[in-house]
Amino acid sequence: MPAPHRLADVLADLVAFPTVSSEPVTAIADYIADRCEAAGMRVERYETSPGKLNLVASAGPRAQEGGRGVVLSGHMDVVPVAGQPWTSDPFVLTRRGDNLHGRGSCDMKAFIAAILEALPSLALKNLSNELVLAFTHDEEVGCHGSRALVDRLLAEGRPVPDACLIGEPTSMGMFRMHPGHVAVRVTCVGQAAHSSKPDLGRSAIVLAGRVLAGIEGLGTEWARRRQFEDLLERPFVVLNVGTIAGGSAINIVPDRCVFDVGLRPLPGMDVEALVAELRQRVQESAEGRGRRGDVSVELIRTTPAMLTPEGTALQGILTAFARDPRPRAASFATDGGNLERLGIQTLVFGPGSIDAAHQADEFVPIAELERTVDVVRAVVGSRCA
Ligand SMILES: [Zn+2]
Repeated sequence: MPAPHRLADVLADLVAFPTVSSEPVTAIADYIADRCEAAGMRVERYETSPGKLNLVASAGPRAQEGGRGVVLSGHMDVVPVAGQPWTSDPFVLTRRGDNLHGRGSCDMKAFIAAILEALPSLALKNLSNELVLAFTHDEEVGCHGSRALVDRLLAEGRPVPDACLIGEPTSMGMFRMHPGHVAVRVTCVGQAAHSSKPDLGRSAIVLAGRVLAGIEGLGTEWARRRQFEDLLERPFVVLNVGTIAGGSAINIVPDRCVFDVGLRPLPGMDVEALVAELRQRVQESAEGRGRRGDVSVELIRTTPAMLTPEGTALQGILTAFARDPRPRAASFATDGGNLERLGIQTLVFGPGSIDAAHQADEFVPIAELERTVDVVRAVVGSRCA
């Protein structure tokens, strides 16, 4: 007799690991690995640094280049809870009405729980095409885990199936595209002086002000270069100055001001060229009208954009479960951008809403969680059996 609460219990176990991105994922990876091994899967641990690893479990014959089969992928880390007004312990899965609340309940341990729940019923011994499960670390802080994993798999020359489902919370809608995210650090350097004699120094904060105005202008120009208008609400490179720090005291002319800019490149864009354009604008704004400016622009991190063509076989399978038969674009980045470097076409589709993710009292609707088990069975049945 099926135990009706087993799925929720697995999710409760996963939520109980407080895998905020700064913390190790070793314990949750062991938990997942145990269940995969119990189901007869091969398990490989790809350690990136102490406490940080990606877990790959597989069953069925090894994939050929561009082969059938499927990759199911989820990240094991979650965003922090500090400072959020939770009404219950974020790491204790709590049922309220038709929803299960907890950090990671939708983003994205629900998908992992659904996979683990489905595993024993998948006839893994009889697969004709490979099933690969890829569980990553540090997705929430820039998709570092999947980047390292893809580097390793490329170095090993390990072929993987050419289709992937990432179960990020999309309220059971299909996403086949998302912009990437590029972090750039701008450092403005001035000359310190006593604030009673400001003419003896040069303010890095005033310099930053000029540079910020220049960047704002560039953002306006980029907003006119539109692409993917049928898919994106904002079909251009979106730009945000996310943090700024400068100066040390009210009575000192500041000699340093640093700010971080996030840009979201669209699929197919040359990230180096975008950053070069930003760098040029920064230099021009700093030096403009005979003023001196000492600025540097440094590319900190790139999370690639993702684009999967319309009408893949995986899309056909998911359509039966999807809220809307037409795949759309996500505004947020996923591990799918990195996976694309392996020749994998990814669709993002999963239980829970992105609006609940990252918030206090994050939750997943129980009905969507349960339905996701059927999704996993259908996808593995069609792609791997
Ligand atoms: Zn996520």
